[in-house]
Amino acid sequence: MFGTMMWQALTTGSLIAHAEKYHGDTDVVSVEGDGSLSRSSWREVGANARRIKSALDRLGVAAGARCATIAWNNRRHLELYFGIGSGGRVTHTMNPRLTPDQMIYILDHAADEVLFFDRSFLPVVAKLVPHLRSVRHFVLMGPRDAEAAGLITGLLFHDELLETGDPATEWPDLDETAPAALCYTSGTTGHPKGVQYSHRSLVLHSLGGNQPDGLAIAARDTVMPVVPMFHVNAWGVPYIAAAVGAKLVMPGPKLDGESLARLIEAEQVTLALGVPTIWMGLLAGLKSTGIKPVSLKRTVVGGSALPPSMLREFRETYGVDLIHAWGMTETSPLGTLNQLLQKHGTLEEGARHRLRECQGRPPWGVDLRLVDEAGHELPRDGKTQGELQIRGHWIVESYFGQEETALTLDGWFDTGDVATLDADGYLVIRDRSKDIIKSGGEWISTVELENIAIAHPQIANAAAIAARHPKWDERPVVLAVPVAGETPDEQDIRAFYEGKVAHWQVPDRVIFVEALPLGATGKVMKAKLRELYGDVLLPEG
Ligand code: AMP
Repeated sequence: MFGTMMWQALTTGSLIAHAEKYHGDTDVVSVEGDGSLSRSSWREVGANARRIKSALDRLGVAAGARCATIAWNNRRHLELYFGIGSGGRVTHTMNPRLTPDQMIYILDHAADEVLFFDRSFLPVVAKLVPHLRSVRHFVLMGPRDAEAAGLITGLLFHDELLETGDPATEWPDLDETAPAALCYTSGTTGHPKGVQYSHRSLVLHSLGGNQPDGLAIAARDTVMPVVPMFHVNAWGVPYIAAAVGAKLVMPGPKLDGESLARLIEAEQVTLALGVPTIWMGLLAGLKSTGIKPVSLKRTVVGGSALPPSMLREFRETYGVDLIHAWGMTETSPLGTLNQLLQKHGTLEEGARHRLRECQGRPPWGVDLRLVDEAGHELPRDGKTQGELQIRGHWIVESYFGQEETALTLDGWFDTGDVATLDADGYLVIRDRSKDIIKSGGEWISTVELENIAIAHPQIANAAAIAARHPKWDERPVVLAVPVAGETPDEQDIRAFYEGKVAHWQVPDRVIFVEALPLGATGKVMKAKLRELYGDVLLPEG
């Protein structure tokens, strides 16, 4: 056949091979478990990843086998991302904040053959060992350690394993639809479900999510993913950074605001990514240390709703652009990113700010729609609220180990989020469908109530829940964490809502709590709060 173009499979090996060949000198910086800083390069990460691939071959780990990691964001974890996945096996990142029972369930379900873990998780892993049926090799991500070797029979060590691997190993030619990575959902209800990313979906996600209106990471950037590599591939940043040859800064386990502020300053970070609670900590850390993050141009925030007050603080106090993004484990995760259109240049400041608060619009590669309960598509008018559905190149089709499709009959994935879309595709997440408050047949958005509470100077964090009500079925109750040293008054906070939402949406109660319960991925556990406070509006007895 004449007149054809070259065909190359879209594989993650091609990303690391590019980084190694064209950006070999670029730094990869990593905070280790003991707090020390290690400095390597894409050349070294690439060579070590190939050594891992070859060492796994020598251990007899089958092609396509799952190899789990329980680790922070660090250099060895990055080597495993490619060494396992690009080598033809599946990098299964595990969330260390899960309970031991959940970990055992997941490792068993995934039938992992190898388990790599950071030194700090040694006590956890040692307890798991007798319960794991499929794992044949345990590997501590570090040098040999006599104490650890005494705890787990046959324990291997990452740094020794590297020595057994051949750095000249080539990345294999793989089918681009073969799986490369696996991540389980946080599973607030029922068992966690596995989402398996293919080489093709990871590469297309790297390209689609990194367009100029997306993450826009370039070779001259210094990128710090604070979002964990154990949850949805740190939003794809390790793959994207390799594809463009950006300098990477991985913060390890030290995620408090002061440590992050110091790291940003020391490494001249230009772009950082994380969930809102991390940025709340960073803002506090910047204040307490007096550090001005002059190098930082952009931060990307997602995972849960961005409090509008945070957007302003980053912009006005530090000149940092905060980019709101939305996604989920099932969507790799980039579903939308908030960048403005040309026509928004003439908007007045307030309107532009409001637009920037929403979750943004989809990049090429994904498509969104809203439907009602019967599955009929709803208008994109910025007002009509419905169930958000998504489809695209990097969206789940079926869960790992489950035969049935995860999609609707016409091929869309139901996100479980309730949202509005406008004509340009700008998305506003109003709630999780299971969290939304249904008061007398009307819906109240918990996100909106939380944002108002957090904007009050005496409130550090807040969560709104539906509490059972004898007349209205459900009414809003807000659990609020006061700013340290403040003792806010319940009626003052309720009064603060007047004029900001309709009168009937003002929470019936504001209850002050010391902290909000956070799940394994840092999201507030609303189900737990409903369990604790769901009956506060019912008459006693
Ligand atoms: P997970 O799969 O654990 O990452 O959770 C995905 C869910 O997090 C989504 O379905 C949303 O409910 C929520 N989420 C993610 N990003 C945002 C955001 N920017 N604003 C509001 N909710 C978000």
